[in-house]
Amino acid sequence: MSHSERRNAGQATCERLIECCPVGCLDSLVETSIMLPEGPLRRCRVCGQLVSQITAEAYTGSMKEFNTPRGTFPDLPSQRRHDARASKLFGVLRRLIRSESGTGARLLDIGCSSEALLRSAVTHGFDAEGVEPAAQAAEFAKSAGLKVFHGYLEEARFSASSFDAVTLMEVIEHLPDPSALLREVWRILKPNGVLVVGTGNGASWTVRLVGARWGYFQVAEHGGHISFFNPGSLAMLAQRCGFDVERSETRRVSLAERKEAGYVSYRLLRVATEVLAMPARLFGKGHDMLVFLRKCSR
Ligand SMILES: [Zn+2]
Repeated sequence: MSHSERRNAGQATCERLIECCPVGCLDSLVETSIMLPEGPLRRCRVCGQLVSQITAEAYTGSMKEFNTPRGTFPDLPSQRRHDARASKLFGVLRRLIRSESGTGARLLDIGCSSEALLRSAVTHGFDAEGVEPAAQAAEFAKSAGLKVFHGYLEEARFSASSFDAVTLMEVIEHLPDPSALLREVWRILKPNGVLVVGTGNGASWTVRLVGARWGYFQVAEHGGHISFFNPGSLAMLAQRCGFDVERSETRRVSLAERKEAGYVSYRLLRVATEVLAMPARLFGKGHDMLVFLRKCSR
């Protein structure tokens, strides 16, 4: 997010935070049938990006949940899943940056919160550091011995071409103008460096099947979620900011939250979820998206 956008986002205003496609398309946004408390989600007719009608004031308020010492640190039941996913992510990343051990490869985790992914990066041999705007989460990570800059990426003023890899996990869906951030990432990556983006997939079967009930759309549940990519819109944004897509994958389908279904129907929906998981991966229709982007020379 640029300085001017943050200033605008901080203003108490009843205007919509996002008025045009965050990917940079020039066509107008049209309303969808996905009805949220902020109003129906709007869709870009060119790239399919979904955007919230949230006001700047409500958006700023919803981001406050991240400023806690624990930040987005996973709870214990989530820890094993987190570790397995991080291990796979860093394995792919090591291959893409052609560093067998990962030792010495310099990595920056943007929006590192209180350390979860950053610690995994260090464990996997990366020379890793983070950037985190939430003060308490940044302090928590620093007190654990990790190298973290408290503030926004542009404020850190990293040298050009200084990182082998950058990770941007569950961040891009919070940004009214993601291109400003991606251009800064392009600047600080070494030639052929790799950016990893993790976000939800707005064109998933989960969205098709449960629509507005998907928890990821709920700004009350996931503060600051305002912009929902799909594999095509993320590729389009990447290309406009100087990246090529090296690898793109999606996973998981969700049909019901435990709290909204009875025991029997929840078990049945869980079985259906398992059946749909494999084809969802094959067809790029899972709701978790992980994309590896390569910096290309301009
Ligand atoms: Zn668009």
